[in-house]
Amino acid sequence: MNENDSLKKIISHCKAFGFIFQSSEIYDGLSAVYDYGPLGVELKNNLKTYWWKSMINLERNIVGLDSAIFMDSKTWEASGHVDAFNDPLIDNKDSKKRYRADVLVENYLSKIDSKIQKEISKGEKRFGENFDKEEYLKTNPRVIKYSDQYNKVSTKLANLLSSSDLNGLKKLIDELDIKDPVSGTSNWTDVKQFNLMFSTEVGSNVDNTKKLYLRPETAQGIFVNFLNVVNSTRSKVPFGIAQIGKAFRNEIIARQFIFRMREFEQMEMQFFVRPGTELEWYEKWKEIRLKWHQSLGLGNDLYRFYDHKNLAHYANAACDIEFKFPMGFKELEGIHSRTDFDLKKHQEKSNKKMVYFDQKSGSSFIPYVVETSIGLDRLFLSVLSSCYVEEKLDDGSNRVFLNLPFEISPVKCAVLPLNDKDGLSEKSLDIFDMLKYKFNCQLDSKDSIGRRYRRQDAIGTPLCITVDYDSLEDNSVTVRNRDNMSQERVKVDKLVSFIDDKTSLINLLKKSS
Ligand code: ATP
Repeated sequence: MNENDSLKKIISHCKAFGFIFQSSEIYDGLSAVYDYGPLGVELKNNLKTYWWKSMINLERNIVGLDSAIFMDSKTWEASGHVDAFNDPLIDNKDSKKRYRADVLVENYLSKIDSKIQKEISKGEKRFGENFDKEEYLKTNPRVIKYSDQYNKVSTKLANLLSSSDLNGLKKLIDELDIKDPVSGTSNWTDVKQFNLMFSTEVGSNVDNTKKLYLRPETAQGIFVNFLNVVNSTRSKVPFGIAQIGKAFRNEIIARQFIFRMREFEQMEMQFFVRPGTELEWYEKWKEIRLKWHQSLGLGNDLYRFYDHKNLAHYANAACDIEFKFPMGFKELEGIHSRTDFDLKKHQEKSNKKMVYFDQKSGSSFIPYVVETSIGLDRLFLSVLSSCYVEEKLDDGSNRVFLNLPFEISPVKCAVLPLNDKDGLSEKSLDIFDMLKYKFNCQLDSKDSIGRRYRRQDAIGTPLCITVDYDSLEDNSVTVRNRDNMSQERVKVDKLVSFIDDKTSLINLLKKSS
C-alpha cells in the first residue's frame, strides 16, 4: 500500500465508524478543519487523560492550567508572533496551488531520506543478524552520497530560514528543480511572508472595538499566568505548568488530514528552571517524552529525534520527536529550550516583574524554560494510522481491526448476547449495568455474533463478552480478545477486575514512568 492509499483508507475508516468527519461536510466541507465523532471524541479524551495524568499525577512538580483562547493582543506583540509568526508562501502559476516554500524543500529532503531508508532495509535483508547499521551508514557509497546531498540541502534551508532570505529560498527551489505535484511544472511565483494568526474583533460598537487574535499556541497563556501560579501554589523552581487547549493557525498547506489543521489542540508543558540548568533539563525532558510515546507500544522504530538546525528566535536548543506517519517521518512533538525569552518580553511589555524569588539563596531571577509541545490531533493520527490492521484469516476471510492499546481504546468492552431470546437479553443487560459505572461499554444484540465481533474489531474494542445459554446456568461469560481472538470463560463476579486489569490507564502510566 502506498502512502496515499494508506492515508485514504484511514480517512474512510474514520468516517465510516464515527471517529472523524470533515467540518461542515453538508456545505462541501471546510478545508483543514475536522470534527471528532462519537468514537473519535472518546479516543481523543483518553489520549488527553493519559497525557494529563502523566504530567500532573506522575510529576510531583507540575500543575495544570486552562487559560482563555482570547488574550490581550499585547501578548502576541511581546511574544513576537505579530511580527514573526510567518511562513514563506509560494504559488505555482499553472496549478494556482499555494505551498509553503520550506515544506517544498522539506518534501524534497524526505525523498532523499526515503532513499537512505531503502538502502538501510536492503542492507538489513542482505546481512541479517550481522547487520551493523552505524558501520553501514559510514561506508555504503550510496548512503554516503544521499546523506551528503541531504546535509547540504538541509543546512542551506536552515540558513535561508534563519536569515529570512526569501529570494534565496526561491533560488534553492529553482536549483533543486522542484516541481508542483499538481501541474508538474516549476513555474513558481516569488516567495512571500504570510502571517499565520487569525484575528477578530471584540466590542459592541465601532469606537471601542479591539483587535484580538485567536491564540496560535497555548504556551503564552502559561507565561502570562506565571506569577499567578507561583503566588497561588507556592511552586518552587524547577516546576512546570501544563495545559491542554485549542490553537489556531491559518496554515498555507491544508492537506494531510488531521496532521495539519487550522483549528487544532495542543498539549503543552512549560518547565521553569534556574538559568544555566536548562540544557540538562532539556535532555531530561527529551528522554521522558520519548519513553512516554514508546509506552503506547506502537513500535519504538516509529519514533526518532530530529535536532533543529534552524532555531526559532526564542530557543537555544530544539528538537522534534518525529513519527512515521503514512506520509513518512514528520513532527509529532516539539521540545524546546526557550531560554527566558518569553518571560523577559512580557516583563518589558507589561512593566510587571516576571521574576522568581529563590528563598534558599535569597536571589531573584527570570527562570529559563524548557517546553514540551505536542499536537493532540497528530498524536491521534499516529495512534490510528499505526493501529489500522488488515488481516487475512485462516478461513480465507478478511478482518480489519484497530490494534489500539487496550488502555486508550474508545470502548473497553462489548456485551453480546448470543441471541435475544430465553432470558439472554435480560442477563446481558444486568452485566452491562454492572460494567457501565467503570467502563465505556456497549451492549449489542443485532446481527450474527460473527458480524458483531467484526464491528467491535473495527472500532478497536479489546474485549467482547458473549452471554450464552451456559451463562444462565454457571454465571460465567466468554471473553474474546480482539488481537488474537482467543476466548476464555470468566465468572461474572470477576468480570470488573478482569477487564480493569487489562484496560486500566494505570498500566500505561506505570510503563511510562
Ligand atoms: P510544523 O513544522 O509541522 O508546522 P511547528 O513546528 O510549527 O509544526 P509547533 O509550533 O512546535 O509546531 O507546535 C507544537 C506541536 O503542535 C507540533 O509538534 C504539532 O504536533 C502541533 N501542531 C502544530 N501545528 C499544527 C497544525 N496545523 N495542525 C495540527 N497540529 C499542529
